[in-house]
Amino acid sequence: MSKLKEILALVRSINGDEFHEQITDGDSLDDVYRELLFLSKKIESKKNRTDVIIDHISNCFAGDFFHQLPISEEQDELDVFCMGFNTYIEELKAVMVSRNLLEIINKKLVEEKEHSKQLVRAKDEFMSNMSHEIRTPLNGILGFTNLLLKNTSLDTEAKKQLDSIKISGDILLVIINDILDLLKIESGQIKLSEKPFDLRQVTHFIYNTFSIQITEKEIDFDISIDKNVPKSLIGDSIRISQILFNLVSNAIKFNHSKGKVGLKIGVDKIENGYHFIQISVKDTGIGIPSDKINFIFNPFIQVSNDTGRKYGGTGLGLAVTKKIINIMNGEIYVKSKLGLGSKFTTTIPLLEYTSDSSVSQPVINNDQSVISVSDGKIKVLVAEDNRINQLLVRTVLKRFNFDCTIVDNGKLAVEALIKESFDIILMDLMMPEMNGYEATLAIRSLEDVTKKNIPIIALTAVVTSPVIEACTSIGIDKYMSKPFEANELHKMIIELLQTDKT
Ligand code: ADP
Repeated sequence: MSKLKEILALVRSINGDEFHEQITDGDSLDDVYRELLFLSKKIESKKNRTDVIIDHISNCFAGDFFHQLPISEEQDELDVFCMGFNTYIEELKAVMVSRNLLEIINKKLVEEKEHSKQLVRAKDEFMSNMSHEIRTPLNGILGFTNLLLKNTSLDTEAKKQLDSIKISGDILLVIINDILDLLKIESGQIKLSEKPFDLRQVTHFIYNTFSIQITEKEIDFDISIDKNVPKSLIGDSIRISQILFNLVSNAIKFNHSKGKVGLKIGVDKIENGYHFIQISVKDTGIGIPSDKINFIFNPFIQVSNDTGRKYGGTGLGLAVTKKIINIMNGEIYVKSKLGLGSKFTTTIPLLEYTSDSSVSQPVINNDQSVISVSDGKIKVLVAEDNRINQLLVRTVLKRFNFDCTIVDNGKLAVEALIKESFDIILMDLMMPEMNGYEATLAIRSLEDVTKKNIPIIALTAVVTSPVIEACTSIGIDKYMSKPFEANELHKMIIELLQTDKT
Protein backbone atom coordinates (compact mmCIF):
# COMPACT_ATOMS: atom_id res chain seq x y z
CA MET A 1 0.00 0.00 0.00
CA SER A 2 1.31 3.42 -0.97
CA LYS A 3 2.06 5.88 1.81
CA LEU A 4 -0.79 8.11 0.52
CA LYS A 5 -3.30 5.28 0.78
CA GLU A 6 -2.06 4.41 4.28
CA ILE A 7 -2.57 8.05 5.46
CA LEU A 8 -6.03 8.18 3.88
CA ALA A 9 -7.03 4.87 5.52
CA LEU A 10 -5.82 6.20 8.86
CA VAL A 11 -7.83 9.49 8.47
CA ARG A 12 -10.92 7.53 7.39
CA SER A 13 -10.59 5.16 10.30
CA ILE A 14 -10.54 8.15 12.71
CA ASN A 15 -13.36 9.79 10.82
CA GLY A 16 -15.26 6.51 10.73
CA ASP A 17 -14.94 5.98 14.51
CA GLU A 18 -15.87 9.49 15.47
CA PHE A 19 -18.01 10.96 12.72
CA HIS A 20 -19.27 8.10 10.56
CA GLU A 21 -18.77 10.05 7.38
CA GLN A 22 -16.56 9.75 4.37
CA ILE A 23 -16.56 12.48 1.74
CA THR A 24 -14.43 11.01 -1.11
CA ASP A 25 -14.09 7.65 -2.82
CA GLY A 26 -10.65 8.41 -4.29
CA ASP A 27 -7.24 8.13 -2.81
CA SER A 28 -5.40 11.08 -4.39
CA LEU A 29 -3.56 13.75 -2.42
CA ASP A 30 -6.59 16.04 -2.97
CA ASP A 31 -8.85 13.41 -1.45
CA VAL A 32 -6.59 13.08 1.59
CA TYR A 33 -6.55 16.86 1.89
CA ARG A 34 -10.41 17.14 1.68
CA GLU A 35 -10.87 14.34 4.22
CA LEU A 36 -8.40 16.03 6.58
CA LEU A 37 -10.13 19.43 6.09
CA PHE A 38 -13.55 17.83 6.78
CA LEU A 39 -12.19 16.09 9.85
CA SER A 40 -10.61 19.23 11.25
CA LYS A 41 -13.88 21.21 10.73
CA LYS A 42 -15.79 18.50 12.56
CA ILE A 43 -13.29 18.54 15.42
CA GLU A 44 -13.39 22.34 15.53
CA SER A 45 -17.20 22.35 15.64
CA LYS A 46 -17.18 19.75 18.47
CA LYS A 47 -14.68 21.85 20.36
CA ASN A 48 -16.87 24.94 19.97
CA ARG A 49 -19.99 23.05 21.11
CA THR A 50 -18.05 21.66 24.08
CA ASP A 51 -17.00 25.23 24.99
CA VAL A 52 -20.65 26.33 24.77
CA ILE A 53 -21.65 23.42 27.04
CA ILE A 54 -18.95 24.26 29.61
CA ASP A 55 -20.01 27.93 29.59
CA HIS A 56 -23.64 26.95 29.96
CA ILE A 57 -22.92 24.62 32.88
CA SER A 58 -20.92 27.29 34.70
CA ASN A 59 -23.76 29.78 34.10
CA CYS A 60 -26.15 27.24 35.58
CA PHE A 61 -23.94 26.94 38.67
CA ALA A 62 -24.06 30.74 38.88
CA GLY A 63 -27.86 30.52 39.00
CA ASP A 64 -28.91 31.03 35.38
CA PHE A 65 -31.51 28.34 34.80
CA PHE A 66 -33.38 30.20 32.12
CA HIS A 67 -31.49 29.05 28.98
CA GLN A 68 -31.28 25.62 27.47
CA LEU A 69 -28.30 23.91 25.86
CA PRO A 70 -28.63 24.05 22.05
CA ILE A 71 -29.26 20.74 20.28
CA SER A 72 -27.44 20.43 16.94
CA GLU A 73 -28.46 18.46 13.90
CA GLU A 74 -25.60 16.06 14.47
CA GLN A 75 -27.56 13.88 16.86
CA ASP A 76 -24.25 12.81 18.34
CA GLU A 77 -23.25 12.07 21.93
CA LEU A 78 -22.93 15.83 22.67
CA ASP A 79 -26.60 16.26 21.69
CA VAL A 80 -27.53 13.27 23.89
CA PHE A 81 -25.67 14.95 26.76
CA CYS A 82 -27.33 18.33 26.05
CA MET A 83 -30.81 16.81 25.99
CA GLY A 84 -30.14 14.95 29.25
CA PHE A 85 -28.73 18.07 30.88
CA ASN A 86 -31.71 20.20 29.77
CA THR A 87 -34.15 17.65 31.23
CA TYR A 88 -32.16 17.52 34.47
CA ILE A 89 -32.24 21.34 34.75
CA GLU A 90 -36.00 21.39 34.08
CA GLU A 91 -36.56 18.88 36.90
CA LEU A 92 -34.24 20.80 39.18
CA LYS A 93 -36.18 23.98 38.41
CA ALA A 94 -39.47 22.27 39.26
CA VAL A 95 -38.06 21.03 42.59
CA MET A 96 -36.70 24.49 43.39
CA VAL A 97 -39.97 26.16 42.54
CA SER A 98 -41.92 23.78 44.78
CA ARG A 99 -39.34 24.20 47.57
CA ASN A 100 -39.58 27.97 47.30
CA LEU A 101 -43.31 27.67 47.22
CA LEU A 102 -43.20 25.48 50.34
CA GLU A 103 -40.98 28.00 52.09
CA ILE A 104 -43.37 30.81 51.19
CA ILE A 105 -46.36 28.74 52.32
CA ASN A 106 -44.58 27.80 55.57
CA LYS A 107 -43.71 31.43 56.24
CA LYS A 108 -47.28 32.43 55.56
CA LEU A 109 -48.56 29.68 57.86
CA VAL A 110 -46.24 30.76 60.68
CA GLU A 111 -47.42 34.37 60.20
CA GLU A 112 -51.05 33.25 60.12
CA LYS A 113 -50.57 31.15 63.27
CA GLU A 114 -49.04 34.08 65.13
CA HIS A 115 -51.79 36.33 63.84
CA SER A 116 -54.54 33.98 64.95
CA LYS A 117 -52.83 33.57 68.35
CA GLN A 118 -52.88 37.35 68.69
CA LEU A 119 -56.53 37.40 67.65
CA VAL A 120 -57.41 34.71 70.22
CA ARG A 121 -55.51 36.64 72.90
CA ALA A 122 -57.24 39.86 71.91
CA LYS A 123 -60.61 38.10 71.86
CA ASP A 124 -60.02 36.53 75.30
CA GLU A 125 -58.87 39.84 76.73
CA PHE A 126 -61.82 41.65 75.21
CA MET A 127 -64.33 39.07 76.45
CA SER A 128 -62.86 38.98 79.93
CA ASN A 129 -62.69 42.80 80.16
CA MET A 130 -66.19 43.08 78.80
CA SER A 131 -67.47 40.50 81.28
CA HIS A 132 -65.71 42.39 84.05
CA GLU A 133 -67.25 45.66 82.94
CA ILE A 134 -70.70 44.08 82.85
CA ARG A 135 -70.37 42.21 86.13
CA THR A 136 -69.42 45.30 88.11
CA PRO A 137 -72.63 47.27 87.45
CA LEU A 138 -74.61 44.02 87.57
CA ASN A 139 -73.30 43.58 91.09
CA GLY A 140 -75.00 46.84 91.97
CA ILE A 141 -78.26 45.98 90.21
CA LEU A 142 -78.61 42.49 91.72
CA GLY A 143 -77.36 43.47 95.16
CA PHE A 144 -79.80 46.36 95.54
CA THR A 145 -82.67 44.37 94.03
CA ASN A 146 -82.08 41.63 96.61
CA LEU A 147 -82.04 44.21 99.38
CA LEU A 148 -85.22 45.89 98.10
CA LEU A 149 -86.98 42.52 97.78
CA LYS A 150 -86.45 41.97 101.51
CA ASN A 151 -88.38 45.16 102.16
CA THR A 152 -91.74 43.96 103.51
CA SER A 153 -93.55 47.26 102.91
CA LEU A 154 -93.48 46.78 99.11
CA ASP A 155 -96.83 46.47 97.35
CA THR A 156 -97.46 43.44 95.11
CA GLU A 157 -96.96 45.35 91.86
CA ALA A 158 -93.63 46.81 92.94
CA LYS A 159 -92.51 43.38 94.16
CA LYS A 160 -93.45 41.87 90.78
CA GLN A 161 -91.45 44.52 88.95
CA LEU A 162 -88.47 43.96 91.23
CA ASP A 163 -88.74 40.22 90.63
CA SER A 164 -88.54 40.92 86.88
CA ILE A 165 -85.42 43.04 87.37
CA LYS A 166 -83.90 40.23 89.41
CA ILE A 167 -84.77 37.56 86.83
CA SER A 168 -83.28 39.69 84.00
CA GLY A 169 -80.17 40.34 86.06
CA ASP A 170 -79.81 36.66 86.93
CA ILE A 171 -80.13 35.70 83.24
CA LEU A 172 -77.50 38.26 82.29
CA LEU A 173 -75.26 36.84 84.99
CA VAL A 174 -75.72 33.29 83.64
CA ILE A 175 -74.72 34.51 80.15
CA ILE A 176 -71.65 36.36 81.42
CA ASN A 177 -70.66 33.35 83.54
CA ASP A 178 -71.12 31.01 80.55
CA ILE A 179 -68.87 33.22 78.40
CA LEU A 180 -66.26 33.39 81.14
CA ASP A 181 -66.50 29.62 81.68
CA LEU A 182 -65.98 28.96 77.97
CA LEU A 183 -62.94 31.24 77.95
CA LYS A 184 -61.55 29.62 81.08
CA ILE A 185 -62.05 26.10 79.70
CA GLU A 186 -60.57 26.97 76.30
CA SER A 187 -57.46 28.48 77.86
CA GLY A 188 -57.14 25.51 80.26
CA GLN A 189 -57.70 27.72 83.29
CA ILE A 190 -60.56 25.82 84.81
CA LYS A 191 -59.68 23.79 87.90
CA LEU A 192 -62.15 21.33 89.36
CA SER A 193 -62.40 20.91 93.09
CA GLU A 194 -62.29 17.45 94.67
CA LYS A 195 -64.55 17.57 97.67
CA PRO A 196 -67.11 15.20 99.16
CA PHE A 197 -70.67 15.99 98.16
CA ASP A 198 -74.12 14.45 98.21
CA LEU A 199 -75.52 14.01 94.69
CA ARG A 200 -79.05 13.55 96.08
CA GLN A 201 -78.81 16.92 97.79
CA VAL A 202 -77.51 18.56 94.59
CA THR A 203 -80.38 17.00 92.61
CA HIS A 204 -83.01 18.29 95.01
CA PHE A 205 -81.40 21.70 95.03
CA ILE A 206 -81.72 21.78 91.24
CA TYR A 207 -85.35 20.65 91.43
CA ASN A 208 -86.09 23.41 93.95
CA THR A 209 -84.40 25.99 91.71
CA PHE A 210 -86.89 25.17 88.95
CA SER A 211 -89.92 24.55 91.16
CA ILE A 212 -91.63 27.79 90.09
CA GLN A 213 -91.29 27.01 86.34
CA ILE A 214 -92.33 23.38 86.97
CA THR A 215 -95.50 24.52 88.74
CA GLU A 216 -96.25 27.29 86.25
CA LYS A 217 -95.86 25.00 83.24
CA GLU A 218 -97.58 22.12 85.09
CA ILE A 219 -94.68 19.82 84.25
CA ASP A 220 -94.90 16.27 85.52
CA PHE A 221 -91.37 16.05 86.96
CA ASP A 222 -90.09 12.68 88.09
CA ILE A 223 -86.78 12.12 89.91
CA SER A 224 -85.41 8.63 90.37
CA ILE A 225 -82.06 7.97 92.03
CA ASP A 226 -80.82 4.39 92.17
CA LYS A 227 -79.92 3.09 95.61
CA ASN A 228 -76.49 2.05 94.26
CA VAL A 229 -75.48 5.70 93.87
CA PRO A 230 -73.12 6.31 96.83
CA LYS A 231 -74.34 8.70 99.51
CA SER A 232 -71.18 10.72 99.25
CA LEU A 233 -69.03 11.18 96.15
CA ILE A 234 -65.85 13.12 95.53
CA GLY A 235 -65.94 15.82 92.88
CA ASP A 236 -66.82 19.38 92.00
CA SER A 237 -70.41 19.72 93.18
CA ILE A 238 -70.73 23.25 91.74
CA ARG A 239 -69.82 22.06 88.24
CA ILE A 240 -72.05 18.98 88.57
CA SER A 241 -74.92 21.29 89.59
CA GLN A 242 -74.12 23.38 86.52
CA ILE A 243 -74.45 20.29 84.27
CA LEU A 244 -77.75 19.29 85.89
CA PHE A 245 -78.96 22.89 85.80
CA ASN A 246 -78.37 23.21 82.05
CA LEU A 247 -79.96 19.85 81.15
CA VAL A 248 -83.01 20.32 83.39
CA SER A 249 -83.40 23.96 82.30
CA ASN A 250 -83.56 22.87 78.63
CA ALA A 251 -85.91 19.95 79.38
CA ILE A 252 -88.37 22.39 80.97
CA LYS A 253 -87.77 25.25 78.54
CA PHE A 254 -88.23 23.19 75.37
CA ASN A 255 -91.21 21.27 76.79
CA HIS A 256 -94.93 21.81 76.26
CA SER A 257 -97.06 22.77 79.21
CA LYS A 258 -98.22 19.66 81.07
CA GLY A 259 -95.26 17.82 79.52
CA LYS A 260 -93.09 15.29 81.35
CA VAL A 261 -89.48 15.48 82.53
CA GLY A 262 -87.70 12.46 83.97
CA LEU A 263 -84.41 12.87 85.83
CA LYS A 264 -82.81 9.51 86.41
CA ILE A 265 -79.49 8.86 88.18
CA GLY A 266 -77.81 5.48 88.40
CA VAL A 267 -74.47 3.71 88.29
CA ASP A 268 -73.52 2.49 84.82
CA LYS A 269 -70.50 0.47 86.00
CA ILE A 270 -67.75 0.44 88.62
CA GLU A 271 -64.23 0.34 87.20
CA ASN A 272 -60.87 0.92 88.92
CA GLY A 273 -62.70 2.20 91.99
CA TYR A 274 -64.69 4.74 89.96
CA HIS A 275 -68.48 4.79 89.97
CA PHE A 276 -69.55 5.75 86.45
CA ILE A 277 -72.51 7.88 87.47
CA GLN A 278 -75.10 8.03 84.73
CA ILE A 279 -77.48 10.97 84.68
CA SER A 280 -80.26 11.12 82.12
CA VAL A 281 -82.74 13.92 81.58
CA LYS A 282 -85.69 12.98 79.40
CA ASP A 283 -88.43 15.29 78.21
CA THR A 284 -91.56 15.13 76.06
CA GLY A 285 -90.85 18.49 74.44
CA ILE A 286 -90.33 19.82 70.94
CA GLY A 287 -87.39 17.52 70.11
CA ILE A 288 -84.37 18.30 67.92
CA PRO A 289 -84.25 17.91 64.11
CA SER A 290 -81.82 15.13 63.10
CA ASP A 291 -79.77 17.44 60.87
CA LYS A 292 -79.14 19.81 63.81
CA ILE A 293 -78.46 17.28 66.54
CA ASN A 294 -74.71 17.11 65.91
CA PHE A 295 -74.29 20.87 66.28
CA ILE A 296 -76.14 21.66 69.49
CA PHE A 297 -73.01 21.18 71.62
CA ASN A 298 -71.18 23.90 69.65
CA PRO A 299 -71.13 27.39 71.21
CA PHE A 300 -73.86 29.85 70.18
CA ILE A 301 -75.80 27.19 68.23
CA GLN A 302 -79.55 27.04 68.57
CA VAL A 303 -81.73 24.78 66.47
CA SER A 304 -83.46 27.60 64.65
CA ASN A 305 -83.11 31.35 64.28
CA ASP A 306 -86.16 32.06 66.39
CA THR A 307 -85.22 29.67 69.25
CA GLY A 308 -83.66 32.51 71.25
CA ARG A 309 -86.69 34.75 70.75
CA LYS A 310 -89.24 32.00 71.49
CA TYR A 311 -87.54 30.17 74.36
CA GLY A 312 -84.68 32.45 75.44
CA GLY A 313 -81.08 31.34 75.89
CA THR A 314 -77.90 31.94 73.95
CA GLY A 315 -76.79 28.50 72.80
CA LEU A 316 -73.93 28.42 75.30
CA GLY A 317 -75.30 26.07 77.97
CA LEU A 318 -74.67 22.75 76.20
CA ALA A 319 -71.22 23.88 74.94
CA VAL A 320 -70.13 24.65 78.51
CA THR A 321 -71.83 21.49 79.81
CA LYS A 322 -70.02 19.25 77.31
CA LYS A 323 -66.65 20.87 77.98
CA ILE A 324 -67.03 20.46 81.74
CA ILE A 325 -68.06 16.81 81.29
CA ASN A 326 -65.01 16.24 79.08
CA ILE A 327 -62.69 17.71 81.70
CA MET A 328 -64.25 15.27 84.18
CA ASN A 329 -63.41 12.44 81.74
CA GLY A 330 -67.09 11.84 81.17
CA GLU A 331 -69.23 11.80 78.08
CA ILE A 332 -72.60 13.08 76.96
CA TYR A 333 -74.90 12.12 74.12
CA VAL A 334 -78.42 12.91 73.05
CA LYS A 335 -81.27 11.03 71.43
CA SER A 336 -84.20 12.98 70.13
CA LYS A 337 -87.32 12.71 67.96
CA LEU A 338 -88.76 15.87 66.49
CA GLY A 339 -92.10 16.63 68.12
CA LEU A 340 -91.76 13.79 70.64
CA GLY A 341 -88.95 14.78 72.96
CA SER A 342 -85.27 14.41 73.81
CA LYS A 343 -83.08 12.43 76.18
CA PHE A 344 -79.66 13.68 77.23
CA THR A 345 -77.45 11.11 78.94
CA THR A 346 -74.15 11.82 80.61
CA THR A 347 -71.77 9.43 82.33
CA ILE A 348 -69.16 10.81 84.72
CA PRO A 349 -66.60 8.68 86.62
CA LEU A 350 -66.54 9.70 90.30
CA LEU A 351 -64.91 8.20 93.39
CA GLU A 352 -67.00 7.31 96.42
CA TYR A 353 -66.16 9.29 99.56
CA THR A 354 -65.28 7.07 102.49
CA SER A 355 -63.79 7.96 105.86
CA ASP A 356 -60.32 7.02 104.56
CA SER A 357 -60.59 9.08 101.34
CA SER A 358 -57.67 11.47 101.13
CA VAL A 359 -59.77 14.60 100.60
CA SER A 360 -60.67 16.98 103.39
CA GLN A 361 -64.25 17.32 104.53
CA PRO A 362 -65.14 21.01 104.75
CA VAL A 363 -66.15 22.03 108.25
CA ILE A 364 -68.66 24.82 108.21
CA ASN A 365 -69.46 26.48 111.46
CA ASN A 366 -71.99 29.25 111.31
CA ASP A 367 -71.96 29.96 115.00
CA GLN A 368 -71.08 33.62 115.17
CA SER A 369 -71.11 33.71 118.95
CA VAL A 370 -67.57 32.29 119.29
CA ILE A 371 -66.00 35.30 117.59
CA SER A 372 -64.63 37.91 119.85
CA VAL A 373 -63.84 41.18 118.13
CA SER A 374 -62.24 44.42 119.18
CA ASP A 375 -65.19 46.29 120.67
CA GLY A 376 -68.25 44.16 120.15
CA LYS A 377 -68.95 45.03 116.47
CA ILE A 378 -66.97 43.47 113.60
CA LYS A 379 -64.98 46.30 112.00
CA VAL A 380 -64.61 45.98 108.26
CA LEU A 381 -62.36 48.12 106.09
CA VAL A 382 -63.55 48.19 102.48
CA ALA A 383 -61.31 49.32 99.60
CA GLU A 384 -63.52 49.86 96.54
CA ASP A 385 -63.47 52.60 93.91
CA ASN A 386 -66.92 52.09 92.38
CA ARG A 387 -69.51 54.33 94.12
CA ILE A 388 -72.45 51.98 93.55
CA ASN A 389 -70.53 49.00 94.87
CA GLN A 390 -69.40 51.07 97.87
CA LEU A 391 -73.04 51.84 98.65
CA LEU A 392 -74.03 48.20 98.19
CA VAL A 393 -71.28 46.83 100.44
CA ARG A 394 -72.08 49.47 103.06
CA THR A 395 -75.78 48.52 103.04
CA VAL A 396 -75.04 44.80 103.17
CA LEU A 397 -72.52 45.15 106.01
CA LYS A 398 -74.93 47.39 107.93
CA ARG A 399 -77.55 44.65 107.68
CA PHE A 400 -75.05 42.23 109.22
CA ASN A 401 -74.60 44.79 111.98
CA PHE A 402 -70.94 45.18 111.06
CA ASP A 403 -69.09 48.45 111.36
CA CYS A 404 -67.80 49.62 107.99
CA THR A 405 -65.21 52.11 106.75
CA ILE A 406 -64.90 52.62 103.01
CA VAL A 407 -61.90 54.03 101.15
CA ASP A 408 -61.45 54.68 97.41
CA ASN A 409 -58.20 52.85 96.73
CA GLY A 410 -55.45 50.59 98.06
CA LYS A 411 -53.23 53.45 99.22
CA LEU A 412 -55.99 54.89 101.40
CA ALA A 413 -56.69 51.39 102.75
CA VAL A 414 -53.08 50.99 103.93
CA GLU A 415 -53.17 54.47 105.50
CA ALA A 416 -56.50 53.75 107.23
CA LEU A 417 -55.18 50.46 108.63
CA ILE A 418 -52.04 52.14 109.99
CA LYS A 419 -54.19 54.76 111.79
CA GLU A 420 -57.01 52.50 113.02
CA SER A 421 -57.71 48.89 113.96
CA PHE A 422 -59.95 46.68 111.82
CA ASP A 423 -60.96 43.03 112.02
CA ILE A 424 -61.05 42.29 108.31
CA ILE A 425 -60.50 43.95 104.92
CA LEU A 426 -62.63 43.60 101.78
CA MET A 427 -60.28 44.51 98.96
CA ASP A 428 -61.26 45.26 95.37
CA LEU A 429 -58.40 44.24 93.10
CA MET A 430 -58.65 46.77 90.29
CA MET A 431 -58.43 50.28 91.76
CA PRO A 432 -56.72 53.49 90.70
CA GLU A 433 -53.62 54.87 92.45
CA MET A 434 -52.78 51.58 94.25
CA ASN A 435 -54.48 48.33 93.29
CA GLY A 436 -55.56 45.56 95.65
CA TYR A 437 -52.43 43.43 95.07
CA GLU A 438 -50.06 46.31 95.85
CA ALA A 439 -52.07 47.30 98.92
CA THR A 440 -52.02 43.69 100.22
CA LEU A 441 -48.23 43.52 99.74
CA ALA A 442 -47.84 46.80 101.64
CA ILE A 443 -50.10 45.52 104.46
CA ARG A 444 -48.30 42.16 104.67
CA SER A 445 -45.01 44.01 105.21
CA LEU A 446 -46.23 46.25 108.06
CA GLU A 447 -44.39 45.92 111.39
CA ASP A 448 -47.44 45.65 113.66
CA VAL A 449 -48.06 41.88 113.70
CA THR A 450 -51.85 42.13 114.22
CA LYS A 451 -52.29 44.61 111.37
CA LYS A 452 -49.85 42.74 109.13
CA ASN A 453 -51.85 39.50 109.53
CA ILE A 454 -55.33 40.99 109.19
CA PRO A 455 -57.62 38.68 107.12
CA ILE A 456 -58.14 40.02 103.59
CA ILE A 457 -60.94 38.99 101.22
CA ALA A 458 -60.52 40.02 97.59
CA LEU A 459 -63.75 41.13 95.96
CA THR A 460 -63.25 40.79 92.25
CA ALA A 461 -65.38 40.62 89.12
CA VAL A 462 -63.11 38.09 87.41
CA VAL A 463 -62.03 34.98 89.29
CA THR A 464 -59.64 33.17 86.96
CA SER A 465 -56.77 30.82 87.86
CA PRO A 466 -54.10 33.53 87.37
CA VAL A 467 -56.10 35.87 89.63
CA ILE A 468 -56.49 33.13 92.27
CA GLU A 469 -52.78 32.26 92.07
CA ALA A 470 -51.78 35.91 92.33
CA CYS A 471 -54.11 36.37 95.34
CA THR A 472 -52.77 33.32 97.15
CA SER A 473 -49.13 34.12 96.44
CA ILE A 474 -49.32 37.60 97.99
CA GLY A 475 -51.27 36.50 101.06
CA ILE A 476 -54.91 37.29 100.27
CA ASP A 477 -56.90 34.84 102.41
CA LYS A 478 -60.07 34.41 100.37
CA TYR A 479 -61.66 35.77 97.23
CA MET A 480 -65.27 36.34 96.32
CA SER A 481 -66.56 37.04 92.85
CA LYS A 482 -68.81 39.99 92.18
CA PRO A 483 -71.82 40.01 92.04
CA PHE A 484 -71.69 38.37 95.45
CA GLU A 485 -74.44 36.79 97.50
CA ALA A 486 -74.79 38.72 100.76
CA ASN A 487 -75.19 35.52 102.79
CA GLU A 488 -72.09 33.98 101.24
CA LEU A 489 -70.06 37.06 102.08
CA HIS A 490 -71.35 36.91 105.63
CA LYS A 491 -70.43 33.24 105.90
CA MET A 492 -66.95 33.87 104.50
CA ILE A 493 -66.25 36.75 106.90
CA ILE A 494 -67.40 34.71 109.89
CA GLU A 495 -65.40 31.63 108.86
CA LEU A 496 -62.28 33.69 108.30
CA LEU A 497 -62.57 35.47 111.63
CA GLN A 498 -63.13 32.15 113.39
CA THR A 499 -60.01 30.64 111.79
CA ASP A 500 -58.12 33.80 112.64
CA LYS A 501 -59.01 33.47 116.32
CA THR A 502 -58.22 29.74 116.59
P1 ADP B 1 -79.81 27.55 74.97
O1 ADP B 1 -80.69 26.66 75.76
O2 ADP B 1 -79.30 28.72 75.75
O3 ADP B 1 -80.40 27.96 73.66
P2 ADP B 1 -78.05 25.25 74.84
O4 ADP B 1 -76.60 25.23 74.47
O5 ADP B 1 -78.43 24.76 76.18
O6 ADP B 1 -78.49 26.76 74.61
O7 ADP B 1 -78.83 24.43 73.75
C1 ADP B 1 -78.56 24.64 72.38
C2 ADP B 1 -79.78 24.37 71.55
O8 ADP B 1 -80.07 22.96 71.55
C3 ADP B 1 -81.04 25.03 72.06
O9 ADP B 1 -81.15 26.37 71.62
C4 ADP B 1 -82.13 24.15 71.44
O10 ADP B 1 -82.34 24.53 70.10
C5 ADP B 1 -81.48 22.76 71.47
N1 ADP B 1 -81.89 22.00 72.67
C6 ADP B 1 -81.16 21.78 73.79
N2 ADP B 1 -81.84 21.02 74.67
C7 ADP B 1 -83.04 20.73 74.09
C8 ADP B 1 -84.18 19.96 74.50
N3 ADP B 1 -84.24 19.33 75.67
N4 ADP B 1 -85.21 19.88 73.62
C9 ADP B 1 -85.16 20.51 72.42
N5 ADP B 1 -84.12 21.25 71.99
C10 ADP B 1 -83.06 21.35 72.81
